[in-house]
Amino acid sequence: MYYIDPHLHMVSRTTDDYETLAKMGCVAISEPAFWAGFDRGSGESFRDYFRQLTEVEPKRAAQYGIQHFTWLCINAKEAENVELSREVLKIIPEFLDCPNVLGIGEIGLNKNTKNEAIIFQEHMELAIAHQQQVLIHTPHLEDKYQGTRMILDMLGEHSIDRSRVLVDHVEEHTVGPVLEAGYWAGMTLYPVTKCTPSRAVDIIERHGAERLCVNSAGDWGPSKPTAVPDLVLEMRRRGHKESLIKKVVYDNPRDFFRQSKNFNLENPAER
Ligand SMILES: [Zn+2]
Repeated sequence: MYYIDPHLHMVSRTTDDYETLAKMGCVAISEPAFWAGFDRGSGESFRDYFRQLTEVEPKRAAQYGIQHFTWLCINAKEAENVELSREVLKIIPEFLDCPNVLGIGEIGLNKNTKNEAIIFQEHMELAIAHQQQVLIHTPHLEDKYQGTRMILDMLGEHSIDRSRVLVDHVEEHTVGPVLEAGYWAGMTLYPVTKCTPSRAVDIIERHGAERLCVNSAGDWGPSKPTAVPDLVLEMRRRGHKESLIKKVVYDNPRDFFRQSKNFNLENPAER
């Protein structure tokens, strides 16, 4: 089955992974800007990173027939440094017209601090000023519920079309409030934390598939870039219709992304 992985950090994956993804039916990826595993020293490091996301990765992906899209920001972890964050916020507009940029992301919270919240709000203002979509990271494990609540409260202060915002890494206790507020939600299939394929299918069965996406969030840590096909298998195993599976892994991310003028997905069936 053709699918889209809406959250995958390919800068930290090998070219072999692109080949495997292509063989498994992946036709497009969206790669949010994230923490590199270490704090960067200056705004210039981010300018180089944004060049990698807008110039290098699309070419690497295209070798395997995968379309590569991206989101730009300074991640929640480094947002603790307000001065550095403001430098990066000034650089982002230079890249917003690059052909594979879908919006601002993944912004959010990490430890739910005041500085993280300040920079989250400044990213929202930037997104609104430039009519950008937004992709949001919610914190891990014990910080997730409180962080998600804080994010929903902050989002409520902005006049942004809720259908242009995706709140990612939702789990059983956070998916309801996100969907009920009118946002899109993303479930991350991770071997260690976040959702397993089986838990993700339980959530789909409970909440329905409207505005719900799944991703691997593959990165440099323990993660599995081919986790979306695992979900396809689990849904088939439980007897779900192919049309529902396709909605979750292809139609939904496509429908969310195509609100961005830069999303020029080629229909794989028409290639
Ligand atoms: Zn991520």
